[in-house]
Amino acid sequence: MLLTISLWLFAVSPALFAPVKEPCTTGRNKLLLISFDGFRWDYDRDVDTPNLDKMAQDGVKATYVIPPYITITSPSHFTLLTGRYIENHGVIHNIWFNTTTQEKKQYYMAQFVDDYWDNGSLPIWITAQRQGLKTGSLHFPGTAATYQNERVRVREVESQFYDYTNETDWRANVDKVMGDWFKMQDLDFVSLYFGEPDQTGHKFGPDSPERRDAVMKVDRTIGYIRDTAQKHGLADRLNIIITADHGMTTVLRGTGIKQIILSQIPGFSFRDIKFQLLDYGPNGMLLPKDGMLEKVYSVLKGAHPNLHVYKKEDMPARLHYSNHPRILPLVLYADPGYVISGLLPVQTNKGEHGFDNQALDMKAFFRAVGPDFHKDRVVGPFETVNVYPLMCHLLGIKPEVNDGSLDNTRHLLVSGGQQCDSKEPDQMSIVIGLGAVAGFLVVVFIIVSSYNIFKRNRTNTRNDLKAEYEDKIDSKQTIM
Ligand SMILES: [Zn+2]
Repeated sequence: MLLTISLWLFAVSPALFAPVKEPCTTGRNKLLLISFDGFRWDYDRDVDTPNLDKMAQDGVKATYVIPPYITITSPSHFTLLTGRYIENHGVIHNIWFNTTTQEKKQYYMAQFVDDYWDNGSLPIWITAQRQGLKTGSLHFPGTAATYQNERVRVREVESQFYDYTNETDWRANVDKVMGDWFKMQDLDFVSLYFGEPDQTGHKFGPDSPERRDAVMKVDRTIGYIRDTAQKHGLADRLNIIITADHGMTTVLRGTGIKQIILSQIPGFSFRDIKFQLLDYGPNGMLLPKDGMLEKVYSVLKGAHPNLHVYKKEDMPARLHYSNHPRILPLVLYADPGYVISGLLPVQTNKGEHGFDNQALDMKAFFRAVGPDFHKDRVVGPFETVNVYPLMCHLLGIKPEVNDGSLDNTRHLLVSGGQQCDSKEPDQMSIVIGLGAVAGFLVVVFIIVSSYNIFKRNRTNTRNDLKAEYEDKIDSKQTIM
């Protein structure tokens, strides 16, 4: 009897002592990462966006996310794909350059320079493929390159003069990803890129009616993406993350605005410069000729109230834009609203990005929906380096070394970031387990002690009865 009770308690005690089990992330749902280039965090505030609103109700919305510095397209997208700050992944600019030959390749042609992208950090496609998953990428920056002799297996790279604004093409791309890639080819992970509302934001400015129209177009597309997932029976097993690489701010012009034109700064001369990267919005980099670094630095430092000039090793550590050999010895950036020109003010854009990632206008939007995400939950800001470990967790793959942490996004997940069949129990599980064992031992101790007391009492009672009986016999014998 005692043995039976003990065995029963042993069997049920962990269940008695453990809390109700949280659901866990299976790692078996599919994942779609979407970037709408230059979608600033607050672009839905002055436009009617029924589909974005519905997505927020059905999923998670972050107040905003913080892109890495320098807040431009290729570097920031590669941070999404690798979880590394720009100084650590090495894709330091949209422009590929060679300081010896003076050669430069613009955004599109730089996509095909393998060793520019493949310099130590693996994008998530390759890591996922190596761990047995099937991945694809459509137009996402970095798609064209080969990494350690591997490429994302299913891919589509746009043509050189692709029109990033055509909504009919957007829908065809969504159909391809949902119907062909996810459903027919059964891919596990796809990254999908749209070039808007960045292009419209540059051309007309972030406060223009054209930008608001572009946001309505994005909103319609988000509705189309979710409807298409539903149509193909994917909605219940597809997580969707929609975010962006940076925001956008208005370029200040007109009287009273002191432009930043290096050739007009007293004492500055291009004769002192071996190589320059200028006229790309608010950022610039300079390689002075031998022995000229101190002169150029002292001439530029403090020359304009809205121009920041740093020797690369003195860049503020929070920007994580210092420790890479590709970063040139002098780094320049302007305050929001200003752009840096070399000889003449050649830029005609009304909107720009690339500024300090602390500026609110550089923050990007973030939404997520799917079986692993909470519903109707608004979360605070986090850095986009954290998207990578979140995606690895959702896909159930082991991440490469990165600068993010699941701790910064686990509150977005129904599971709280607990992976099913995790081989390494977390600290809470260990505490619960030890508690259950201790509880079991206490129960066993109580039963054994009670049994001994009971047994002793019974023995004593029997001895008392025996003594009483013998007394009675004795007295009878005495009477007889
Ligand atoms: Zn961009």
